[in-house]
Amino acid sequence: MTWTDCTAHALHEALLKKEVSSKELVTAFYTRIDAVDDKTKAYLKLLKESALTQADAADQRIARGDAGPLTGIPIALKDNLCVEGVQTSCASKILEGFISPYDATVVSHLKSAGAVFLGKTNLDEFAMGSSNENSAFAATLNPWDLACVPGGSSGGSAAAVAASEAVFSLGSDTGGSIRQPASFCGVVGLKPTYGRVSRYGLVAFASSLDQIGPLTHDVRDAATVLNVISGHDAMDSTSADLAMPDMTASLSSKLTGLRIGIPKEYFIEGIDAEVSTAIEKAIAHYRALGAKIKEISLPHTDYAVATYYILATAEASSNLARYDGVRYGHRTTQPKDLLEMYMQSRSEGFGPEVKRRIMIGTHVLSSGYYDAYYKKGQQVRTLIKQDFDTAFEDVDYILTPTAPTAAFRSGEKTDDPLQMYLSDIFTISVNLAGLPALSMPCGFTKNGLPIGCQLIARPFDEAGLLKCAYSFEQAHDFHERRAQIA
Ligand code: GLN
Repeated sequence: MTWTDCTAHALHEALLKKEVSSKELVTAFYTRIDAVDDKTKAYLKLLKESALTQADAADQRIARGDAGPLTGIPIALKDNLCVEGVQTSCASKILEGFISPYDATVVSHLKSAGAVFLGKTNLDEFAMGSSNENSAFAATLNPWDLACVPGGSSGGSAAAVAASEAVFSLGSDTGGSIRQPASFCGVVGLKPTYGRVSRYGLVAFASSLDQIGPLTHDVRDAATVLNVISGHDAMDSTSADLAMPDMTASLSSKLTGLRIGIPKEYFIEGIDAEVSTAIEKAIAHYRALGAKIKEISLPHTDYAVATYYILATAEASSNLARYDGVRYGHRTTQPKDLLEMYMQSRSEGFGPEVKRRIMIGTHVLSSGYYDAYYKKGQQVRTLIKQDFDTAFEDVDYILTPTAPTAAFRSGEKTDDPLQMYLSDIFTISVNLAGLPALSMPCGFTKNGLPIGCQLIARPFDEAGLLKCAYSFEQAHDFHERRAQIA
């Protein structure tokens, strides 16, 4: 393995043993990015100058003997996370020229830990999408097969890790945007419990659903990153004030007395045969380890996609009202009056999917339809949450496919928004219920595309979730494979 293929924990060891410096790592990663990023298009912006300064500081810290597990580790950030003095584009023309005046809380945590920021990664505009084809600037491609999408909306973050263009990255997950691209790109993607990680400095899409989380090569790295980025934050009133156990402490391959639920509603028609086979093998693995496998029911699953597209669009229409050409980014030239300035700036600045979401969201919140859509959506959200509460009385974790198929081909679903929305069918309920969940690689299709397995846990049981995933990962080599970019 070359340095750029390594996990954060392997590089941490190498840095402490002085086998390599952070500066050398940063140089190696930029060489790799120069070689492959014009194919993957994972990055929207590179931060070469500041990365070298951060690497120098990290090397000094290592020399002083005060390095933490992420000190000197080169990473990538989804471009909807604010870094002071750096553009945050959300892959939208409307944020043209916008420079963040402050750091997101996760960014401050990573800075204090001594991580090095290589750059900002591509996403679907304002994190709305499942394929990265909604970015206003570029379509990121899947490092395992450049004819396929990397998933979305954190497709750039997933592709950067899969293509060895960053050790790990951060993404955001509102309806699956960390887990689905992790599944498509063969990496581990963790969506923490709503409230575990501060959302301060994450550009809001749907505030009651958004969570930030890591995309990593393996489960240990996911645990390490979660240790660093989580915790209570006075700047986010929804962040939980709870003790944070060390997420790496419980990682071991031994599992005892575990009960895993398999929701019957998730094994539907339309799920790819190769995905089913890989998931069945994962179930067999847990059974062989002594876990009790139980069929469970999440009866309101059918309503999840509809509920999500009411609530998420409602919140988005309100959150995105702030982009009016006055305070941020793009402003139309020569409007004839104030109203035209607002309207033209928004028409020119937002892409088609964002406009579609704003219109749906405005509609479901409008006075004549509020009760029928928004209020009903909130009620169904409660039912979905209760399904999980009931299930978790009998089981400790729930196992499902992350997505019904492996990565699909670019352009395959762009004309049919409903088909696109359905690729999130297994990830969305988790956001509506506020639960922690992760996707880990559990196999490959005969065409060499990764397949993801999703594990879902009770609120704030990330430590158990990671442990459960770790036992599977350590018995397989999926996490050790790296994409060969043609
Ligand atoms: N793909 C989903 C959507 O388009 C989820 C996006 C997300 O999690 N940010 O809304």
